[in-house]
Amino acid sequence: MDQSEHETCIFCKIAHQQISAKMVYEDDQIVAFPDLKPVAPVHLLVIPKKHIARLSDVMDADQVIIGRMLAVATALAKEQGIPDFRTVINCGPGAGQTVFHLHLHLLGGRPFHWPPG
Ligand code: AMP
Ligand code: ZN
Repeated sequence: MDQSEHETCIFCKIAHQQISAKMVYEDDQIVAFPDLKPVAPVHLLVIPKKHIARLSDVMDADQVIIGRMLAVATALAKEQGIPDFRTVINCGPGAGQTVFHLHLHLLGGRPFHWPPG
């Protein structure tokens, strides 16, 4: 990652409160906030504060953050009253990734189909 990528990253700005978002969770490593364009009644994004562009860029030292993101998503699902929910990490443009700062979608409140589109 070069410095300019970090400076222009929208999710870095949200994580470091340079852009306001309605935080639903924050700890020393993770924040969660509503998706701007929700595709389900509950649609939250769980992100690391550290800039990691995509899942395949996660290094050994950062692997623990993935478990923490899933644990936060599970706790938020309980808090939001969605016993059935879906978590999604799109990795790369071909998989639908549009924001290149690692994020986990937490979706719930409606039925989901399989396979996904
Ligand atoms: P993905 O397509 O997996 O990269 O997901 C990116 C998600 O970020 C999309 O669902 C967007 O609606 C959402 N998004 C983009 N900008 C913002 C923002 N400023 N605040 C909240 N969500 C955003
Ligand atoms: Zn970032």
